[in-house]
Amino acid sequence: MKDNTLAVNGGQPVIASSYKHPQWPVIDNEYEQVVVAQLYNSVSIYNRSGIIEEFEDKFAKLHDKKYALLCNSGTNALWTMYVSAGLMPGDEVICPTYTFFATNTPLLSCGVKPVFCDANESGNISASEIEKKITKKTKAIVVTHMWGYVCDMDAIKSVADEHGLLLFEDCSHAHFAKWNGQYVGSFGDAAVWSLQGQKNITGGEGGIYLTNNEDMYVRANLHGHYNKRCKDEIPENHELREFAVTGMGLKMRSHPLAVSIANKMLEKHPEYQEMRNYCAEKYEELLSSYDFIEMQNTENMQPSWYAYIFKLRPEYITKREEIVGMLHSEGLIEVDIPGSTGPNHQLPLFKKPWVLFPQFYTEDEPFNVNDDYPGAQQFYESIIKLPTWTRAEHKEILGKYLEGLKKVLDYVKS
Ligand SMILES: *Cc1c(COP(=O)(O)O)cnc(C)c1O
Repeated sequence: MKDNTLAVNGGQPVIASSYKHPQWPVIDNEYEQVVVAQLYNSVSIYNRSGIIEEFEDKFAKLHDKKYALLCNSGTNALWTMYVSAGLMPGDEVICPTYTFFATNTPLLSCGVKPVFCDANESGNISASEIEKKITKKTKAIVVTHMWGYVCDMDAIKSVADEHGLLLFEDCSHAHFAKWNGQYVGSFGDAAVWSLQGQKNITGGEGGIYLTNNEDMYVRANLHGHYNKRCKDEIPENHELREFAVTGMGLKMRSHPLAVSIANKMLEKHPEYQEMRNYCAEKYEELLSSYDFIEMQNTENMQPSWYAYIFKLRPEYITKREEIVGMLHSEGLIEVDIPGSTGPNHQLPLFKKPWVLFPQFYTEDEPFNVNDDYPGAQQFYESIIKLPTWTRAEHKEILGKYLEGLKKVLDYVKS
């Protein structure tokens, strides 16, 4: 009979410490070839041509958007998005408190006031919570599809339309996730995807911005793509055309080698996604049999499975560290309790914005950091994150993770 002694109690770990976990992104000869080809072709592209144009065209077309702008990071693409909408000091933007902070931090460089909004049981902001935060100063809503689980875009879009607010999406966890069959990033006025090393489509570093609005696109271009690209693309008769040479004075061009990697990954993505879906299916099958686990609601959506998230029921939250510790001892080293992605209203930058941005903020008018955010807090304290993989050969490690999870969770149950 198999010995079920936990590794923490001296048993045999499911995965030996010598076992090599797959790295993300998985680099192989196909990627090497496109990078080398790009290296000999061009390592700096001034306008919308070559690999930049190729990737932007494909990405925009897939999302049925007119304009795409690659950037050197997702964070800068988010900053560009806020600048492109002409947001002003004093304007309010309703944003999730539960998100990676880079969704919200660029608002501060615009002098805009982030108005934090609580999370629902899936970790996402919801139409009902958004409505509570709308004031006369509200100009926009930004949503993040957390961990690749999609926000209720029908309800959120109706709130935005009803109140005449701009709608932005941070899709950095959710490349090609769908809400009712429609890709995220195509619901609002503009959207951004990070292409950073961990993300489902990556070039190592990078970001991309999409919009249908010509005026927003012109401003986005001026924000970080001055001279050639602006001269090529801003119409002669546009009122901002005269600024084409300098733009706004910042430079955020993406690196062609990074884009060549992301471009290959975009091509391979459907195949990778199939394997991520398979991982999620297997996790679901196993985890749904434990009473102390609460499954994420995936109604109406196709998640990206950037990660697979499950929650411990309230009585088990105090055991979370111990459970994850036991899984780590079994060699499941990529099981994680997300730390830096958490409630933003607790961060010093948002509690005391006047220290680093004295030009915009004062102590007399703090952000809404003292409101209650029970949903975000609860979600943050109860989730465990599992990795998903992308290639057929990764079925081996998936099998080991399923075995390790079963071993530890059966013990917790008993
Ligand atoms: C990664 C990420 C960002 C920032 O993107 P970078 O490319 O790392 O600058 C922003 N928002 C979310 C939700 C992210 O996951």
